[in-house]
Amino acid sequence: MLVFKFGGASIKNAEAIKNMASIIKKYSNERLLVVVSAMGKTTNALENILSKSRKDESIADEIRLLKEYHLNIVAELFESEATLIEQLSSIFSDLDKALVSEASYDEHYDQVVSKGELLSSTIVARYLNSTGINTKWVDSRNHIRTDDNFRAAYVNWADSQAEINKLNSVLDQGIVLTQGFIGNAENGKTTTLGREGSDFSAAVFATCLNADSVTVWKDVSGILNADPKLVAGAQLFNQLPYKEAAEMTYYGASVIHPKTIKPLANKNIPLYVRSFDHPDEPGTIIHQCELEAVLPTTIIKTDQCLVSFRVIDFTFINEENLSLIFGELAKLDIKINIMQNSAISFSIVIDYRPDKVEALLEHMKDHFEIRYNTGLVLVTIKNYQQNQIDEYRKGKKILLEQISRNNYRALIGN
Ligand code: ASP
Ligand code: MG
Repeated sequence: MLVFKFGGASIKNAEAIKNMASIIKKYSNERLLVVVSAMGKTTNALENILSKSRKDESIADEIRLLKEYHLNIVAELFESEATLIEQLSSIFSDLDKALVSEASYDEHYDQVVSKGELLSSTIVARYLNSTGINTKWVDSRNHIRTDDNFRAAYVNWADSQAEINKLNSVLDQGIVLTQGFIGNAENGKTTTLGREGSDFSAAVFATCLNADSVTVWKDVSGILNADPKLVAGAQLFNQLPYKEAAEMTYYGASVIHPKTIKPLANKNIPLYVRSFDHPDEPGTIIHQCELEAVLPTTIIKTDQCLVSFRVIDFTFINEENLSLIFGELAKLDIKINIMQNSAISFSIVIDYRPDKVEALLEHMKDHFEIRYNTGLVLVTIKNYQQNQIDEYRKGKKILLEQISRNNYRALIGN
């Protein structure tokens, strides 16, 4: 049994969807579950619509563009598709309804932004069927069960396992096509698993179905030792151990969602990262293996925020005030990307989310003097060579730097 995941770029227009169908066709005799993201930049568009609408700004143009985008793809894929267009209209009218809400931002976000995957999966399922690939559209919210930590929901594995088991009989009937990124909380509300979370959805389905492998089809040839869009001459890994791949995602490699590797590694399910433009190439396999030496890998994480807590009562940074800070970070679900301390101050680097930073400042202001800087870049060179560091430092404003035996990390200012 195989699980495939196609992200936004692989279904961004009619041509891409046709290419996806041609890949799936080759595997249509297998038991296959396919997870799709929203098309192209739809998730960003929905985020923008939500934030404008919460500020009572007009969203008519943005909604019109989003409709046109999807309907143009439909027009290119099909000659006439009245039923499909009706289904899409009903998702768009649900979107209108979801936009009117008194809920918290995060809950509201999930009800709105989840519509992208419902639109894409509806179109793709219809298209696959039209090409003769027998496809069953499945609502992943009936199978991926989560808590109600909106925008970053945690999967309830036991409940999801029970619901995903039910897909075995659906897989007997044809290919299962479902949405990544979205799930359902116990109270019936739609949740999302975090941006780019469709990889993780694929891993959840694969783990619960005991899949033979997961394949993530991407616009790159596999996992490279640097982002080819940022660094020239990036090299492809043919294979990577789970641990190495997991660490790369921790440091910010965006090729795979960070939560994806663990459940697969626990069940020894290999993860392939392959190019949808060159589907005959093997790509990278992440599995149980030992490598003698791993290529130096450069990972760049943008939009970082450096927060410094300074003690105000002439004490030093000690375990008590550290535990205050860590307690608050855990409460706010803020992840530290790198940290450093001096006698009187403690600094952390986090992904910049204005709402979270404000809440942190508000809750900690009685204990510390807090400063923060945004727009920073965190660079990690895994398995570095000294000359790379020398090269990297040139002309850079380095705000923080850490070097261990294996990793070089630097926070770069602007
Ligand atoms: N559509 C969602 C996003 O863009 C989920 C995903 O692509 O994995 O973040
Ligand atoms: Mg995406």
